[in-house]
Amino acid sequence: MDHYSPIDLHCHSTASDGTLSPTDLLARAADKRVRVLALTDHDTVSGLDEAVAAARDLDIHLVPGAELSCQWNGRDLHVLGLDIDPANPRLLKGLAGIRAYRERRLQAIADKLETRGVPGMADAARDLCDGGMPTRTHLARALLNAGRVRTMQEAFDRYLRQGKSAWVKAEWPDMESVIELIHAAGGKAVLAHPLAYGMTGAWLRRTLAAFGEAGGEAVEVVCGNTDRQRVDNALGQTLRAGLQGSLGSDFHGPANPWIELGRLRPLPPAVTPVWEDRREIRQAIGS
Ligand code: AMP
Ligand code: MN
Ligand code: MN
Ligand code: MN
Repeated sequence: MDHYSPIDLHCHSTASDGTLSPTDLLARAADKRVRVLALTDHDTVSGLDEAVAAARDLDIHLVPGAELSCQWNGRDLHVLGLDIDPANPRLLKGLAGIRAYRERRLQAIADKLETRGVPGMADAARDLCDGGMPTRTHLARALLNAGRVRTMQEAFDRYLRQGKSAWVKAEWPDMESVIELIHAAGGKAVLAHPLAYGMTGAWLRRTLAAFGEAGGEAVEVVCGNTDRQRVDNALGQTLRAGLQGSLGSDFHGPANPWIELGRLRPLPPAVTPVWEDRREIRQAIGS
């Protein structure tokens, strides 16, 4: 059964690894009857001006956001900053540092690919990202376009995933410092897709405890394409950690038929929504 939510607080545009421009993304959100949308590109706010303008024309409430890459205890985690000020100088400086790292990593991954007989992927990926934030998704698309793999999934499984031949150990900022950056920019910190890190329940519990201790506000309890059981699991962990809840599809574009803007189960009533203190949002979604 399909579930349609009037609020979706996680998606990507061509400013990072999404395939729709911010304008096209907002048009699609309107078509799916989303009333409140957060644009959360990887480590960048460069799509937000265009998104804000497009949202105004469509009468959608646009929440300015970003999905920040970080690490905690040797694990890579994603933390969403919601309702951030995109002009905050500390945030911009932090994001510039991550961009510089991502550009070095793109080259390092492409160098590994070259030693495995796949040359030219750095330039190909740079062309695809067209000024947006470079990600492994762009490298996967470059491998696909070059006929080196048949699917994006195969690009990750053969080359790009942790432990595979072109994996480069990430050097993201630590979790505490990205939460601090988000707070400096006036935003709330939400741990994205808690069940996507391949952690045991015990490790997730430790991660959420550390996230709360570092000042993080909420957990993305409902993600795109998650079943009831996973929602219940994430909900239980979130409540135990005393954190608020959020929901988001993590939409990257229409190519993936399983993920759609606003196609989300409702946030369970047991958890306090991260937008509880935002009257405009409550009004926009009628809650
Ligand atoms: P990066 O932040 O550069 O490490 O790239 C991570 C991005 O790659 C994620 O945000 C996903 O969009 C994408 N990704 C990760 N794993 C896979 C996968 N197995 N198949 C397709 N896309 C993936
Ligand atoms: Mn992505
Ligand atoms: Mn993510
Ligand atoms: Mn995402």
